[in-house]
Amino acid sequence: MDMSFSPDDLAFRDEVKAFIADNYPAELKAKRARSEMTKDEILAWQRVLHKKGWVAPHWPKQYGGCEWSITQRFIWNEACAQAETTPLLPFGLAMVGPVIYTFGNEEQKAKFLPRILSGDDWWCQGYSEPGAGSDLASLKTRAVREGDHYIVNGHKIWTTLAQHADWIFCLVRTDPSAKAQEGISFLLIDMKTPGITVRPIITIDGSHEVNEVFLEDVKVPVENLIGEENKGWTYAKFLLGNERSGIAGVARSKKSIERLKTIAKAELIDGEPLMKTDEFSRKVAELEIDLTALEVTELRTLAAESHGRGPGPEASILKVKGTEIQQRITELTLEAVGNYGFVQAPLGDAANSNDFLAGPEYAPGVAQNYFNMRKTSIYGGSNEIQANIIAKMVLGL
Ligand SMILES: Cc1cc2nc3c(=O)[nH]c(=O)nc-3n(C[C@H](O)[C@H](O)[C@H](O)COP(=O)(O)OP(=O)(O)OC[C@H]3O[C@@H](n4cnc5c(N)ncnc54)[C@H](O)[C@@H]3O)c2cc1C
Repeated sequence: MDMSFSPDDLAFRDEVKAFIADNYPAELKAKRARSEMTKDEILAWQRVLHKKGWVAPHWPKQYGGCEWSITQRFIWNEACAQAETTPLLPFGLAMVGPVIYTFGNEEQKAKFLPRILSGDDWWCQGYSEPGAGSDLASLKTRAVREGDHYIVNGHKIWTTLAQHADWIFCLVRTDPSAKAQEGISFLLIDMKTPGITVRPIITIDGSHEVNEVFLEDVKVPVENLIGEENKGWTYAKFLLGNERSGIAGVARSKKSIERLKTIAKAELIDGEPLMKTDEFSRKVAELEIDLTALEVTELRTLAAESHGRGPGPEASILKVKGTEIQQRITELTLEAVGNYGFVQAPLGDAANSNDFLAGPEYAPGVAQNYFNMRKTSIYGGSNEIQANIIAKMVLGL
């Protein structure tokens, strides 16, 4: 989609594209999924951007961000998607960082923000529990104040990449007698504290992305409380609003459709490219039309945001449509590649195995990605819950 950019925006676009081309770490170019990367590889691009001062486009300058305009952020996201750069981890930069600079005290800002920017601290998100996902306010992890510490006991689940984390931000119940939303606090917990156990959950694609985190008599200094005790729900909702905007992934879906078309041109059915068959080309066309419609919706949201009207319930529309499209792309890509899609991407020792050499070079990992992307309609607030929000807030039902 063409947008009309000012000369300054066009110069900015040239600058960021050139920077990415010259500085994106060469060793990351061959890796398509985070599950193929080591901790250092996941952080490599963040470190480059940190050096350049471009690691936090949306943060205020006073905290080390770029304070880029919405148009500049749009240009940046497009450029990163086109170059297929590794997405930066959201837990520090997009989630807890803005909570700390908005609601934290000066000591917390000084202690945590620089290390979030540099990637020296890896954060994970301790919201969900076995009995509290969609109904997050029913969470039971308990924090009891004893002197200048809280003693925390509970069980978090689906904690993404907690196996690498230095810190976890947790929602904990500090007042069990208050109404559900009113007795919750927002605590920052050092993962090295005695009493924390991380247990892996292996997902359907065979990867280790999520975990359970058990907290048993974990002693947390009161200075790690964000804002006021029992006001955590306010900070939690602020964070979830940020989590949902940007979840549509339009720019990256455009790139994935380009890749799908390349594959469908190379795959032959009775000697003809798959992309030339009526049925397959119709499915790709439908996908592209839906993505274009989503892009227009996203641009309208961005235009409203640039006039100071923050994303409201339309963030739910972007989330539902964006994730449905992401899933459909992986379905069609798997359909195009066929049985070769089940060949493993080269992981660890498998990199030396001949198995993954079978099939075309684009095949390894396609099935893994198809399975992995089932998560998108669940996380960030499930799509059914988003449909409820749309029904109530947009349609007035
Ligand atoms: C890959 C992945 C990574 C995640 N990472 C994190 C993380 O890092 N940190 C974290 O805290 N959490 C994380 N989550 C958890 C995620 O936020 C929850 O899975 C999600 O909120 C849904 O909660 P649940 O799994 O408990 O399902 P439930 O809430 O038990 O829902 C089960 C099903 O019922 C439906 N449902 C529930 N209530 C309603 C309703 N009122 N109306 C209609 N349908 C309903 C849901 O849509 C869903 O289909 C992650 C999840 C996944 C899949």
